Amino acid sequence: MTRLFWLCACLIACASAGRAQGPGNPATEPAAPRTLVIRARSLIDGISDKPRHNVQIVIRGNRIVDVLSANSPALPAEARVIDLGPATVLPGLIDTHTHIFLQGEDAAAGGYDVQLLKYPASYRAARAVIAARRALEQGFTSIRDMETEGAGYGDVGIKRAINEGLIPGPRMWVSTLSISTTGGYPLEGYAPELTLPKGSQIIDGPIEARKAAREQLDKGADWIKVYMTHRSWLDAQGALVSQPTLTVEELKAIVDETHGWGKKVACHAYNGLGLQRALDGGCDSIEHGLEITDAQIAQMIKQGTWYVPTLQVYYTDWDPADTDAGKRDRKRAAVHGVSFTKALRAGVKMAFGTDVGGFKWSEPIAQEFEREVEFGMTPMQAIQSATSRAAELLGKRGEIGVVAAGAYADLIAVPGDPLADISVLKSVQFVMKDGVVFEPQDHAPRVSSQD
Ligand SMILES: [Zn+2]
Repeated sequence: MTRLFWLCACLIACASAGRAQGPGNPATEPAAPRTLVIRARSLIDGISDKPRHNVQIVIRGNRIVDVLSANSPALPAEARVIDLGPATVLPGLIDTHTHIFLQGEDAAAGGYDVQLLKYPASYRAARAVIAARRALEQGFTSIRDMETEGAGYGDVGIKRAINEGLIPGPRMWVSTLSISTTGGYPLEGYAPELTLPKGSQIIDGPIEARKAAREQLDKGADWIKVYMTHRSWLDAQGALVSQPTLTVEELKAIVDETHGWGKKVACHAYNGLGLQRALDGGCDSIEHGLEITDAQIAQMIKQGTWYVPTLQVYYTDWDPADTDAGKRDRKRAAVHGVSFTKALRAGVKMAFGTDVGGFKWSEPIAQEFEREVEFGMTPMQAIQSATSRAAELLGKRGEIGVVAAGAYADLIAVPGDPLADISVLKSVQFVMKDGVVFEPQDHAPRVSSQD
């Protein structure tokens, strides 16, 4: 156990001895917010180019009210102090492409299909609760969850339970069912006489497209997720091909409707015609974007389109190298890295995404940072992709993804220096969300500045 953990454990023990607080035992008389001070040797604030050293982060309630140097004038006498010693403090991380309703399904255990065919909704919800906690304990205090894969509006309920303090989890932006077209999403490959559930809401034509967006927005979607490509394979020349799905007219109906609600549209798009339609139809963010041409990069810059690459997931679960699927798997990873580097150099707006759930939640979400650095980001750029840049994508600049006065008190601490070794972000040792320290042992957030 590290020194950091001893400090946290001590604080939690002291606080819980004072009073019990939790979903089943709410405080009856809310006390005035008390001041909490986090001390750290190093702070990466999510926006600045360089870290600050020997800082005191002053928190009242669920907000940061000041960031001071260690030798600042005296703090309020009643302030509680958490000294994180040699750790590096950062804003709570933001993953803008997750799937809490996917579990990195094992092919031997039935793969993707078994979830829709055999798992009760309650079972999938229970696993999603664990995934949400897993995000938080790894330091991801905000996620944009990119559809439930046949689990209906389950993400709306999980988000509500988190916001009400019933279960631990990150701040969530949810996209509910997602939208694709006939022939554009699993389940597939069964006897044509059967009518089977789909992992996405299927539409054909602009009228159905607009109606699906309306339904999803009405029932709680914060973003609309659209699948602009589906299957992928290699052509005779070995080039990656992906099947386009929605037409530009169908997509434009969704974008128009969604923008009218003040919300945005995220488009899964690999390459080629489907990616081009995604840009021409006005998508706000391109998800994955495995292979983006120079002309498409120029169009993204002109339109202000966000790019949410998901590098690491394409290095997992490769089929054998001598098979068609295996060659396709390797090609996808290869072209993705090239596109990432080109977009970065061109100045496309990029935010951190992982597709976790596409791989198991037991794996470190932060492994994506190492891929970002491998393909050209500086460690500081990689950190900002998951802090201030991701916050900008979510329309929450200054509120999350930054350690500064006025922001929510979402903080993490890691041992060592992530600018020297980005992989330390896989070893988050301290998590605070909304001014409350998350304690991984019993899952019940109990220490806050309000104690
Ligand atoms: Zn995804």
